[in-house]
Amino acid sequence: MARYTGPVCRICRREGLKLYLKGEKCVTKCTLDKRPNPPGMHQQQRRRKASDYSAQLREKQKARKFYGVGERQFRNAFEEGDRRAGPTGPNLLSIMEARLDNVVHRLGLGRSRPEARQLVRHGHFLVNDVKTDIPSYQVKAGDVITVRPSSRESELFKIFLETAGNTALPDWLSYDSGSWTGKVLSKPVLPEGSLPIQQQLVVEFYSR
Ligand code: SF4
Repeated sequence: MARYTGPVCRICRREGLKLYLKGEKCVTKCTLDKRPNPPGMHQQQRRRKASDYSAQLREKQKARKFYGVGERQFRNAFEEGDRRAGPTGPNLLSIMEARLDNVVHRLGLGRSRPEARQLVRHGHFLVNDVKTDIPSYQVKAGDVITVRPSSRESELFKIFLETAGNTALPDWLSYDSGSWTGKVLSKPVLPEGSLPIQQQLVVEFYSR
C-alpha cells in the first residue's frame, strides 16, 4: 500500500483524535482545536449512522496511526498478541509500546513518534550497548537505551538535553539525564488515558 504523504493533521481530523504526529506544535497550536471536523468538503453535512464495521475500522485506524505503523505491521502485531497468553487487545498495545521508536519518544528523545523513528533509523541509539537502528525492535524489561556518545554533541540532541525525561514517564520506564540513559523497568503497557480507543473493536475488526 502507498505511504500517505499528505498533511499529517488531516489524519487526526479523520480520526477525531489528537495523535501527536508533529511534536511541539501538537501542544501549542493544534489544528484539531481550530478545525475539529473531518477533512473533505461535505463532511460537516454528513449525518450517516456508523455501521459496526466502520466503528471497528475507525478504532483500528486510530490505534495504528497513533503508533504510525503500516497495516501489515499492525496486523502482524495483532496476530502475535493473539498467540500470547492473556487478552489480545492489551497484548497488541503492549507490543506497540515496546517498539524502540515508541520508547525513544516516551523518553522525550524525539518530539513525535515520526521524529523518534527517524532518529532510530539514523543510528543514534544503543540498546544494551549495541547500535540498534530498527524502529520496530522490541524492548524488554531490563533493557537499557542510551544516546550514542557521538550524537550527544549535535544541536538536535542539545534540545533533548533540556526536555528528555521531563514528560511524565510511564511506570515501566526510567530516565537518567546525566548519562542520557533510559531503562525499561517492566513489561511495556499503554499508559492510562494516552489513547482513548476501544480495544475490543480493534480485536473484532481483525477477528471478522
Ligand atoms: Fe496536527 Fe499534532 Fe494537532 Fe494532530 S495533534 S492535528 S498532528 S497539531
